[in-house]
Amino acid sequence: MHHHELLKSAHAAHEQMRSMRRALHRNPELSFHEYETSKFIQARLAELNIPFQVMAETGVVAHIGAGDRCVALRADIDALPIHEESGVEYTSTKPGVMHACGHDAHTAMLLGAAQILKERETAQGASALGGVIKLIFQPGEEMSPGGASIMIREGVLQNPRPEAIFGQHVNPDATCGTAAFVGGMMLASTDELYWKLHGKSGHAAQPHNATDPILIAAHLITQLQTLIARRLNPFAPGVLSICSIHGGHATNVIPDIVELSGTLRSMNQAWREEALRAIEAHSLALAASPLYGDGRCELSIVRGYPPLINNDETTAFARTAAQHLIGAANVEEFEPKMWGEDFAYYTHEIPGTFWMLGIRPPHLEATPGLHNSKFIVDENTLPIGAALLANAALTRLAS
Ligand SMILES: [Zn+2]
Ligand SMILES: [Zn+2]
Repeated sequence: MHHHELLKSAHAAHEQMRSMRRALHRNPELSFHEYETSKFIQARLAELNIPFQVMAETGVVAHIGAGDRCVALRADIDALPIHEESGVEYTSTKPGVMHACGHDAHTAMLLGAAQILKERETAQGASALGGVIKLIFQPGEEMSPGGASIMIREGVLQNPRPEAIFGQHVNPDATCGTAAFVGGMMLASTDELYWKLHGKSGHAAQPHNATDPILIAAHLITQLQTLIARRLNPFAPGVLSICSIHGGHATNVIPDIVELSGTLRSMNQAWREEALRAIEAHSLALAASPLYGDGRCELSIVRGYPPLINNDETTAFARTAAQHLIGAANVEEFEPKMWGEDFAYYTHEIPGTFWMLGIRPPHLEATPGLHNSKFIVDENTLPIGAALLANAALTRLAS
């Protein structure tokens, strides 16, 4: 079919994508502040004669093709508050800000796909694409409430409504040239929890005159794991990690306050809600128990993203399309992770599939992970990722 041709156009766009990715990499911008990045995307789309509109302040939505059907492709565009130490020549020019999650590559690959699709439309006519391909350049993936939720609220999935959405993420654990798919549960819901345990300070030698928030914290930390051990179906993934604890300053003073923070992750919306309610009820009740004296707990919950559940049908479809494009040997099964990703919001609205794209240089055994200050991307993945996106959309609209 069109696979050979697609790969050829993607390789022809390689140099362009590399220079776009490097320009973005040099000028990373934090979540919801992607003003220059947004202008960069708009300028490139204008150059390609692709109509677009701005949404969610720094997001961009473009349309290619014509017809009744519609498929969406999405890239995220924001960077992280990390000081780059990768040593690449096109290193970040902004101290403390870095594209350490590969969103620069995601953006360049979607702009590459835009070029390939536009060339096809120009050569064969607007109806040759089989429908409309909606390109979503989305801000703020790295920060709650997630740019996806804002763009959806602003109508990115309307006029026209896509029948499917595809997105991808670079994966330093897999070799460049491969892509990995999984149907169903892929990534987790991510809620942040902040506890403030109020006790009553006093002399270490006279605990009966104080309320010890350190002891309350100790019990709370161990007891909350009961939620995972006894309230969660053993066949369902879930994890609660309490990752910070602050309180006290002396060996002989019981402090007033202990603060804890952590994250709850799950693959199931109903259990997520149940678990949050149980954590709140138990935290408040435990701290207030007369056993400790006069304690009290304040809990604040910052809701993160829902679990990312890939649609089985669109995933089987995208996997087969990828196998035809890059060869079955290069298409792997992705092992689900308890990471979060706001692409999840789209998959709760319409059928969609998120896949992982290998970016590890083949001659290296391991490279630094996502969100690491030494994170690197093998740029040979750029034409592969662009072709995978264009191919998923075209094959879908031809089916
Ligand atoms: Zn990230
Ligand atoms: Zn990311």
